Amino acid sequence: MKYDLIIKNGTVVFPYQGEINCEIGVKQGKIATISDSIDSNLGEQVLDARGKYVFPAAIDSHYHVGIYRPHSEDAESESRTALVGGVGTIISYFRTGHHYLNKTGPYREIFPEVLALSNGHFYTDYCYHIAPMTTPQLDEVEWLVEEAGVTSFKFYMFYKGLTLAADSTKGSEYTMAENYDLGHLYELMTRVAKMAEKYRGKTRISLSLHCENPELIRVFIERVKKQGLTGLKAYSEARPPLTEKLSVHEAAILADATGCPINLLHLSSREALQAGIDVRRAYPNHDIKLETTLHHLALDYEELEKSGIGMRAKVNPPIRTREHSEFLWEGIIKGHVDTVVSDHACCGEEHKKKGVWDSLPGFGGSSILYPIMLSEGAHKRNIPLSRIAELVSANPARIFGLYPKKGCIAIGSDADFTVIDMNIEKPVRAEELLSAQDHTPFEGFIAKGWSTQTIVRGKIMFDNGKVTEEKCGEFIKRPVFLHDQIRAEKASE
Ligand SMILES: [Zn+2]
Repeated sequence: MKYDLIIKNGTVVFPYQGEINCEIGVKQGKIATISDSIDSNLGEQVLDARGKYVFPAAIDSHYHVGIYRPHSEDAESESRTALVGGVGTIISYFRTGHHYLNKTGPYREIFPEVLALSNGHFYTDYCYHIAPMTTPQLDEVEWLVEEAGVTSFKFYMFYKGLTLAADSTKGSEYTMAENYDLGHLYELMTRVAKMAEKYRGKTRISLSLHCENPELIRVFIERVKKQGLTGLKAYSEARPPLTEKLSVHEAAILADATGCPINLLHLSSREALQAGIDVRRAYPNHDIKLETTLHHLALDYEELEKSGIGMRAKVNPPIRTREHSEFLWEGIIKGHVDTVVSDHACCGEEHKKKGVWDSLPGFGGSSILYPIMLSEGAHKRNIPLSRIAELVSANPARIFGLYPKKGCIAIGSDADFTVIDMNIEKPVRAEELLSAQDHTPFEGFIAKGWSTQTIVRGKIMFDNGKVTEEKCGEFIKRPVFLHDQIRAEKASE
C-alpha cells in the first residue's frame, strides 16, 4: 500500500495560512502527500472527514504530569484525557523538591529517572520543561539542552517566600533549595541566554516564568482574612493582579539585563496581560512570549461560586472575573497572546475539601483545549480557525523547539491531527474526559466543536469517545533540529 492512512473529504486548517479543502496521505507516521484528491484504494486505512475540519493536533505546552500522583500512573491517565481535547503532544513541567518525586539532586541523575517512569506510559508524544532549583543544577543547563533534549526552563517567582520560611541552613522543605530568589533567577537567565545565543536563528531556547509576588501575597492574605472574605473571591483577592504585574516587570528587567528569551506563563488578569504587552514595548529587542490558559479565558469566580463548583476551581494564579477574561480574549484577537494552554494538573476532589487556604491548587483541562477554544473563540468571537490552530499548536511548536516536526501540516512533518466536528454541542461532563480526576470546574459548561478523532504519528488513538490504540507516546528530544540530526548521524554510522 502506498499510504498507511488517508484523511479524505475534510477541510484542513493550516496555521498561518487558512482553510483548504484537501486530502492527506500518511506513511510511516509522517505526512507523505497533500493533494486535492487521493485515491482511497491507495490507503491501508481511510478516514472520512466529510463535513469536518482537520486541525494539527494540539501541543499542550503547560502540563504537570506526576505532580500529585505517581508519575507513570498520572502519565497514563492524563495523556489519555489529552487525546479527548485533540492534543498530540504534551510538554510537562518537572522540578525537584516537594511534590513530583519529592527529592532533589542533579538532573543528570534525576532526569533519566523521570524518563524511565515515562517510558511506555504515554498515549501522546511528550517532552519536559525543567526548573533548575538549586545552585549546582544551574550548571546543568548546557547538558540539558545538548544531551537531554530540553529547550525550555522554568522559574517560579512566588516560591521566594517559601525559601525564607524554613531553616536557612538546609533551605526550604518545599523547594529543597537554598537561594531560590532573584539572584538565582539572574544566574539561571545567564545560563539560558548563553544557550539561546549559541543556537540563535536555528531554534529557541527560553525560560518560562510563573509571575506572582510572594511578599505581596503574604500581606494580601492577612487582609483578606481580616475582612472575613471566603471562597474563590477570597483566593483571587489574596493573590491580586498587582502581584502578577510586579513580577512580570521584574522578570522583564532581568531578561533585558541578561538577554534571556522568556515566556510569561498563565497571565490571568487585565493587569498581567497589560504588563506583558508593556514589557514587550519597553524592550522591543527582547524575545518575550505571552501565555494564557483555558480557565482564565472561560471561567469566572462569581459564576463558579453560584454553581457550587467552589474550591474545585482553586488554581494559581486564581480565577478572576468576566472583566479580566474579556481582556484576555481581546489580547488574543489583537495578536498579543502567543499560546493557550490547559496548565493541566490532575487533582482529585479529595484535595479540594480543605478550604480556601489548604486545598491543593490546580486541575486538569487538556481534554477541552480545542473544544473551549472553538466554542468560545471561533463560534462566539469569530476568531479564525487558523488562528486557533496557531495558539494551541503551531506557536507552541515554534516557541519550544518542536517545529516543523510538530505543529505543522507539511510533507515530512509528523502526522498528528485532530478531526473536529464544529457542530457537536454538549455540556462538559467529567466522566467523558477520560481523566483520573473525578471532577472538573468546567462541569456543565456548554462547548460547541469537539474532536471525533485524534491521530498521533498516523495512528488513530482516539475515535468517537474511545481510546482505540495502545500507549505509543514517544519522548521528543528538543530542539528537534539538533537531536533529529544527531539521530540521523547515529543511524548512518
Ligand atoms: Zn502550571
